[in-house]
Amino acid sequence: MTGPGPDPRLDSLVDTVIALASGQLDARLEPSDANDEIDAITVGVNMLAEELEVTHENLERRVRERTVALEDATNELRRLVLHDPLTDLPNRRLLVDRIEHALEKRRREDWGVAVLFLDIDRFKTFNDSLGHAAGDHLLIHVGRQLRRCLRPADTIARLGGDEFVLLCEDVPDAEAAQALAERALNALMEPVVIAGSEVLVTASIGVAVASGRDVTPTTLLRQADAAMYTAKKRGRAQAALFEPSMTGPVGERLAIENALRYGIANDQIRVHYQPLVELSTGRVTEIEALVRWAHPERGLLPPAEFLDIAEESDLIVPLGRAVLRRACLDTARLRRELGRPDLRVAVNLSARELSQRDLVTIVVEALTQADLEPGALCLELTETGLISATEATMDQLLQLKRLGITLAIDDFGTGYSSLTYLKRFPVDVIKTDRSFVSDMCDNPDDAAIVSAVVGLGRALGLRSVAEGVETPEQLAMLERLGCDLAQGYHFSRPVGVDAIRTMLIAEAPTAVA
Ligand code: C2E
Ligand code: CA
Ligand code: CA
Repeated sequence: MTGPGPDPRLDSLVDTVIALASGQLDARLEPSDANDEIDAITVGVNMLAEELEVTHENLERRVRERTVALEDATNELRRLVLHDPLTDLPNRRLLVDRIEHALEKRRREDWGVAVLFLDIDRFKTFNDSLGHAAGDHLLIHVGRQLRRCLRPADTIARLGGDEFVLLCEDVPDAEAAQALAERALNALMEPVVIAGSEVLVTASIGVAVASGRDVTPTTLLRQADAAMYTAKKRGRAQAALFEPSMTGPVGERLAIENALRYGIANDQIRVHYQPLVELSTGRVTEIEALVRWAHPERGLLPPAEFLDIAEESDLIVPLGRAVLRRACLDTARLRRELGRPDLRVAVNLSARELSQRDLVTIVVEALTQADLEPGALCLELTETGLISATEATMDQLLQLKRLGITLAIDDFGTGYSSLTYLKRFPVDVIKTDRSFVSDMCDNPDDAAIVSAVVGLGRALGLRSVAEGVETPEQLAMLERLGCDLAQGYHFSRPVGVDAIRTMLIAEAPTAVA
């Protein structure tokens, strides 16, 4: 029963509502047994408080969830901005940042900072022949292999394309940096199966070590890049240490590329020929076409000066086509003029050219235009070119062979798994690499290799050619071994078509000039 004053339950009701309103959501009222209106309100307030508390908890949880999601998104964004999405390696931005930090640390503690610029050899060819998915797969594989040969503190970044950079923040000296480059090259050499084919990856690496006080990330990267191009120029699959004489080649390369593009379009491509002598008769039965570039300022340039650039850009395709056309025209003319219908010509095809889908058309066009029979043409392929050959490439080679064109394996012995290729590809000719021939008289191992190649050729019914014959002793040894043809400075350097004509006339006095 209620007394004379105000019901004390009203006071606690007010207190509780105030507590609730000020955020103390666990405040509750104790209902009495009175079962009156105040009691009803008490129960109602408790229910409201319950509801408020639950809602609040939900809200808090949602806010917490949102915050976590936001943090994740921020991290993801940071990762995306600073990493390469394909390999998940740091990208250029993060790399530059890390180089900057490394250089700063070095300013204080006199540490050596090394940057290794790595570019996969002939990646374009690989990508063209096996497809982009396989190309991606290869890039991921390369990233992993590189990671394996670095210490956790070192950075490996992908700059895009087939370019990677390794950053080592504390190398004692340039030799140590070069040793690391060798390790990376070896790690990449392990064969890997991609898109069903065994692939052998090689790369070229440029090494730059910070020297002097005011090196910037940009200069270090540029130096390593320059050294990398030198490594490519020296024959790929190797590392080169930056030297000041290599400066500016990025600009220089681009300039060469542009000049070469212009040169191809403006008739600056020349073809020289080197005779191949049949050892049983001593006659020149074949000539090899070797490209030259008549550079307007630098004179006649050998392929070593521009072939790499042509291959890395797509210029090798129009360049190769120009050589093929010229070689077919010149040979058809020599055959007619000299009455030498047996004369053949060999044309080199680089890996990139081999993967062209319209290779057969291009070859047939060149033959038709020159009115040269297919039997007069030999295409020289390298093992490296055949490594990434796909079924489609194989098909094209078979088509060419069916037309009557001869196929040769060039530089035999310098590539990998040579015998496998001989079995797999429909070749007719093996050309033993110059390096074996040049040492065969002094080095019994090289002599054994040449002898084995000649024997192998005979067993498989292939013609064998020895390249780089420079001395009478080498020639005599090759004759003893039963090699079919020889080529080299001992007979003649590569010369222009007029000189070849003179040479052919001289060896066959009955021929009509
Ligand atoms: P290769 O196909 O192995 O050609 C033989 C190279 O060895 C030529 O160099 C030739 O001049 C040189 N040589 C020949 N005999 C001797 C010798 O007795 N001693 C020495 N020391 N060298 C000798 P070149 O003309 O500088 O060509 C270099 C390479 O460039 C060629 O090697 C070939 O792989 C490539 N090449 C040349 N022309 C073309 C072309 O039109 N297309 C493509 N894709 N590659 C080409
Ligand atoms: Ca050749
Ligand atoms: Ca060769």
